[in-house]
Amino acid sequence: MVRFMKHKTYNIITLGCQMNKSDSERIAGYLENLGYKLNNDRYSSDLVVVNTCGVRQSAEDRIYGIIPRIKKKNPKAKIVLTGCLSNREDVKKRLKEKVDIWLPTVQIPNLKYQITNKFQIPNNKSQSCGYLKIKSKYSSMISAFVPIGNGCNNFCSYCVVPMARGGEVYRPAKDIVQEVENLVKIGYKEINLIAQNVNSYKSQITNNKFQTNSKLQITNSKQINFSGLLQMINSISGNFWIRFSTSHPKDMSDELIKIITNCKKVCRHIHLPAQSGDNEILKKMNRNYTAGHYKKLIKKIRRAMPDTSITTDAIVGFPGETREQFNNTAELFKEMKFDMAYVSKYSPRPGTAAENLDDNVSREEKKKREENLMRILRKTAWENNKQYIGEIVEVLIEGEKNNFYFGKIKTGKSVRIMNYELGIRNLVGKFVKVKIIKSRDFGLEGEIA
Ligand code: SF4
Repeated sequence: MVRFMKHKTYNIITLGCQMNKSDSERIAGYLENLGYKLNNDRYSSDLVVVNTCGVRQSAEDRIYGIIPRIKKKNPKAKIVLTGCLSNREDVKKRLKEKVDIWLPTVQIPNLKYQITNKFQIPNNKSQSCGYLKIKSKYSSMISAFVPIGNGCNNFCSYCVVPMARGGEVYRPAKDIVQEVENLVKIGYKEINLIAQNVNSYKSQITNNKFQTNSKLQITNSKQINFSGLLQMINSISGNFWIRFSTSHPKDMSDELIKIITNCKKVCRHIHLPAQSGDNEILKKMNRNYTAGHYKKLIKKIRRAMPDTSITTDAIVGFPGETREQFNNTAELFKEMKFDMAYVSKYSPRPGTAAENLDDNVSREEKKKREENLMRILRKTAWENNKQYIGEIVEVLIEGEKNNFYFGKIKTGKSVRIMNYELGIRNLVGKFVKVKIIKSRDFGLEGEIA
């Protein structure tokens, strides 16, 4: 292992999704193992890692401001660009003078060779998942991201992920269970299992090599899927919650719904990206399901677990999206009564199939459609939240601020706890019973019960 002098410092800037946040935790763990120390000031760090996101133009645009500014104020810093944009030729051309190291995510284990200017990077074929073996420096003491895989095989026509991260690779169940066991042992209360498409998870298990504290013992060598993995993690002793994302509507099986229903530690929150409520647009997006299939799936989930909150993603203004087609998405929002949605205005992404389509919905129209969906969402989310008033719910307290505690309940809703004298007991990181007294569109308020 290459060791560096103690005074070397690093700073990481993370843009984008949970997966990027988790990757940044692994990069931090990796750099600290090399002897680097965290420096919260990017303008005086020796090494600045920018973990980029290419999913939306707005996230991409941010790096064109951030990176030249760092290079100007801190010219001695080595700048590493990783994440979605690290393979994009046009980005490389634009930031050629500013970035020192271009590092595709799967090559994180090779960073030490580039920092020391020894360019004999080993040709490691398993590196696509190998970087997930790096020990994370978790940024929270309560809730941890645990990646179960990386990459995507789906090639939705608007999405850069399959090009940026490559095809799907999954971590062995043994590694995942051991990471979760260790986290629970040291007091973590929430485990977030993450991958681009958790529903496609698979891993081979051989009994005699797999000894864990999990009550669910594997008796033979067999392949397990995501339902099996959830069962294994659910059976680990301890008081903790399990969350997961992201699911794909084409892959969410009846078996998985049944397992979630039966696993008490799995949170009652399903994030299921719809993207559109119109069949023609879904086809152009290469999503491989229809609006009818999506609706049926949500109804099935709600029948099995009526207390589940459902959140989604939607894109407005996809090339060629007519008013009528958008109205189908608006109808889907009304009918599904989502609890939360991440609505984005379509922007063409280089290298994707949709880049070749005519981006013919105007910016103003995209904005209008976004606002329209947000209006419906606020209404349905508030209607859903009103049902909590008077209920006693379990809250995982995440922190305190301006004289109140805040946290989340099992359905993923945020709760503020009012009228509580802070400092009497430190409740951060604990499960607390709370009576809900007020609701808003995207949050609840309550008092300690
Ligand atoms: S499922 Fe589609 S949107 Fe999600 S990461 Fe894969 S290609 Fe991208």
